[in-house]
Amino acid sequence: MSNYKLWIGGKPVDGAAEMSVLNPVTEEPFASIARSNESLADEAIASAGKAQKVWARVSIAERQAALNKIADGLNARSEEIARILTMEQGKPITESTAEVAYTEGFIRYFASMDLPVEVIQDDASKLVEIHRKPLGVVVCIIPWNFPLLIAAFKVPLALLAGNACVLKPSPTTPVTASIFAEICADILPAGLLNTVNDDNDLGAYLTGHPGVAKVSFTGSTETGKKVMASSASTLKRLTLELGGNDPAIVLPDVNIKETAAKMYGAAFMNCGQVCLALKRAYVHESIYDELCEELAGLANDAIVGDGLNPETQIGPLNNKMQYEKVKGFLANAKKDGRVVAGGDVPEGRGYFIPPTIVRDVQDGDEIVDLEQFGPIMPLIKFSKVDDVLASANGLNFGLGASVWSNDLDEAKSIAMQMESGTVWINTHLDFGPNIPFGGAKQSGVGVEFAQEGLHEFTQIQVINLAK
Ligand code: NAD
Repeated sequence: MSNYKLWIGGKPVDGAAEMSVLNPVTEEPFASIARSNESLADEAIASAGKAQKVWARVSIAERQAALNKIADGLNARSEEIARILTMEQGKPITESTAEVAYTEGFIRYFASMDLPVEVIQDDASKLVEIHRKPLGVVVCIIPWNFPLLIAAFKVPLALLAGNACVLKPSPTTPVTASIFAEICADILPAGLLNTVNDDNDLGAYLTGHPGVAKVSFTGSTETGKKVMASSASTLKRLTLELGGNDPAIVLPDVNIKETAAKMYGAAFMNCGQVCLALKRAYVHESIYDELCEELAGLANDAIVGDGLNPETQIGPLNNKMQYEKVKGFLANAKKDGRVVAGGDVPEGRGYFIPPTIVRDVQDGDEIVDLEQFGPIMPLIKFSKVDDVLASANGLNFGLGASVWSNDLDEAKSIAMQMESGTVWINTHLDFGPNIPFGGAKQSGVGVEFAQEGLHEFTQIQVINLAK
């Protein structure tokens, strides 16, 4: 069984203890990894602090070149990483391969970005410039659904802006983050990227630490609130990418077959464990039965199993806690609505739940109001657009949303009334490194990606020169 280390000061380091990493198919360990304690977390932060002081003076061209080398390093090990990602996370190998490729693409895009000085006034009286300075040490805390890609949402942009990082993966998916740090250790100056592995017990310590300037966090809304509270005493900069419960509004004029296929993909990718997944579908009454039937057909045809089998389309849920939670949602959904595909949890090993379509549910039902983060798609019938807008906007979530119609003017008018950071029209779950991404309401604070995302890793400095 492979053993993975912490990365501190550019070197592999033993932990205070060892943690097993389970394969969610077998529920057996496939690797072990070093676990941090507070003193190792202190070392990681101190090492980042030291490295950052030097890195802040390195030109942006050198930082861009380093990011491109990291992308090369990932590319060279892509097959190995994809396989390990499937073993630790559970997703089908096709999705793991895509995650590694996306990660490389994001890093290459970030490597093409710049932080130019902005001149806002230059006349006879004065010169006023905006410079964007690094913040210092950035703690990047990531969840278990995209353990590699989400690390790459944060670390490269933080580094490009001249910061150093401490990366803390989720306890159930620490291996790909460790390999990412290993690749970076070959390329970056020692200490610029360090890791902390915990068992959900060092988050408050890291986010309250006086040596940390910023926390970039992705995870649940509940934990995001804790991060905000523990960061308050030192007024850390925060980016919080939190939970979502994305609504889709489907109007009567859509092509049912095509729309169903796209909606299915947006709901069941990564076994539904996607912050931006389509999590509740509001469908016009005139096409409700037909769309439910089409979606049920797709769910019934899905191949569920071990993600290492190349034919698998739906793997297991990542961990026991999430599996038990989704089983609870399923039991209540069966009482509140009518299951027309899936719904039966297989006996035996592995955190498997088949893709499930549940119809005849409504606002107020648990499966509609809470983020299921699993393979269950609830469909709600509507008749009036005003009512459905009130439903879609009626929760505290505001991450993504979608509108489906052939009348693009009508769709856009509805989209503009939705309270979420992203609204798609005739698609869902489309994102990229050039498109700012962030949550409205309790789905987040701040944005990632694009120039706006890069700016979040900087502090503005105004130079005001009297002439
Ligand atoms: P989680 O909030 O349980 O954990 C996320 C991370 O926070 C983990 O690394 C965990 O160890 C750490 N953590 C736990 N307690 C902490 C504390 N007190 N302080 C700081 N960190 C702490 O989330 P999860 O179950 O791993 O992931 C699923 C959730 O993440 C879902 O709600 C999903 O919507 C959300 N998510 C959001 C986005 C986005 O970009 N908005 C992306 C992916 C996932």
